[in-house]
Amino acid sequence: MIDLLGLLLFAAVAYRIAARLVRPLESLSKGAENISRGDLQVALADPKRDDEIGLLTRTFIAMTEKLRLHQQQIETAQLRLLTEKEEMQRANEILAQLSITDGLTKLHNHRYFQEYLTREIKRVERRKEPLSILLADIDDFKRLNDRLGHAAGDELLVRIAQIMATSVRESDLLARYGGEEFVVLATGTDLPGAVRLAEKIRMSVAETSFILDASKRLTRVTVSIGVAQYGNDRMAFFQEADRALYRAKAGGKNCVIAAADV
Ligand code: GH3
Ligand code: MG
Ligand code: MG
Repeated sequence: MIDLLGLLLFAAVAYRIAARLVRPLESLSKGAENISRGDLQVALADPKRDDEIGLLTRTFIAMTEKLRLHQQQIETAQLRLLTEKEEMQRANEILAQLSITDGLTKLHNHRYFQEYLTREIKRVERRKEPLSILLADIDDFKRLNDRLGHAAGDELLVRIAQIMATSVRESDLLARYGGEEFVVLATGTDLPGAVRLAEKIRMSVAETSFILDASKRLTRVTVSIGVAQYGNDRMAFFQEADRALYRAKAGGKNCVIAAADV
């Protein structure tokens, strides 16, 4: 009888020891396992005891909170980096666009035209397609600047750019070549086609009345255009158009001259 009582007592003591020692250690070990798998959502309750197990559990809880905080900080920093990277990409795109755009007329600039011409020449040589160039220059622009002022001159450049943009095809490249000169690269267009396009541009400009300054006076302006078709020499291509433009000026302005007529 006494033996049985002793056995029961021993079992009760063993159960208490298990409850006080083994279970908290089991929880700790499970928590550590979760953390090692990357799961920081471990929720251990404060053991409310001052022995080593209590100290170990509280240290474990504090460590887990610190890890959670660090993880949050890392996630916030990653998000910020991503946003900054996107902003940087956007800024680069804008910069790239600006570097090939004329600030006043918003047409492509001389630099882009040269790059485009290089690509286009390669393409037409491969595909044996015609390619033509139009060099357009505003007539007596200096006089207009002197008469109405530079701001009015700038306004005219913007308006002429708009007229030209509505005259060319989407597949053509229109750029401000410099000062008051514009260039059109007409893809798949032979010389007679390019002359027709140049005539269309010349007439659209000549038929437009511009209001360029505060006086609201109507101003008429004309352009001269030199046209050439690509043979097999980039330099000659451009020079022929330039010489044709020179002839158009010498021939009284407000006209189109094709290189073949030179
Ligand atoms: P032509 O009929 O022979 O072409 O004579 P032009 O007066 O048009 O040509 P010229 O080359 O003598 O003068 C060009 C003028 O264009 C001189 C320059 O001050 C003016 N110009 C160039 N770029 C700009 C610009 O961005 N804005 C303004 N307002 N004027 C410009
Ligand atoms: Mg000029
Ligand atoms: Mg001019």
